[in-house]
Amino acid sequence: MAWAVRGRSSAVFGPSRWRGPRDTAAIALTFDDGPSEGTPRILELLAQYRVPATFFQCGRNVERLPEIARAVTAGGHEIGNHSHTHPLFCFKSSAFIEADLARAQDAIAARAGVTPAWFRAPFGVRWFGLRQAQRRLRLRGVMWTIIGYDWKRKADQVAGALASRVSPGAILCLHDGRELRPAPDIGVTVECVRRLLPMLLERGYRFETVSSLLCPTKSPNGSSK
Ligand SMILES: [Zn+2]
Repeated sequence: MAWAVRGRSSAVFGPSRWRGPRDTAAIALTFDDGPSEGTPRILELLAQYRVPATFFQCGRNVERLPEIARAVTAGGHEIGNHSHTHPLFCFKSSAFIEADLARAQDAIAARAGVTPAWFRAPFGVRWFGLRQAQRRLRLRGVMWTIIGYDWKRKADQVAGALASRVSPGAILCLHDGRELRPAPDIGVTVECVRRLLPMLLERGYRFETVSSLLCPTKSPNGSSK
């Protein structure tokens, strides 16, 4: 049961993608729990290296910091839905789950001007009713290939773990916020991004948003990108 709820490849409560194709050099950098007051520091680094990323935002945080949510889209990044209030969905009703996802979807559309296509469950926990809620809101589930534990480890440990485990098609998960906490300290995350970007680019990896990694568009000659 624990695997059904938390396993990154579990489809018991709805299908989730957790990695991209292994035959390209593309990887996706993703951030959960934002936007936060620290998000602009990450946006600066991404802009410096011209790297797109995907931000799974909480609706409540978007309402608190709408300008930072807009700065994420203005920077060319993708926004995903990470729930409204970052609840643990275990034992919650289907109605609660759908209402929470819908509120986040509405908050992001109203403040950031985009409608997310991807949902990442808070704490990676899926539950009964999530599948239907995602279907009704047209949200596809995505987990991660490697999670950084940046909320509880030191920057060198996080960057080292990600750098040693990364592989083609990997989806990396970091956090530009800390659940719904205002003004969280995300220094570890920022430092980790500062170290990882040049290192992974040097190794030949190419960064893509979750949508372009998982749903490559067909090129005019009919072959997949
Ligand atoms: Zn989260």
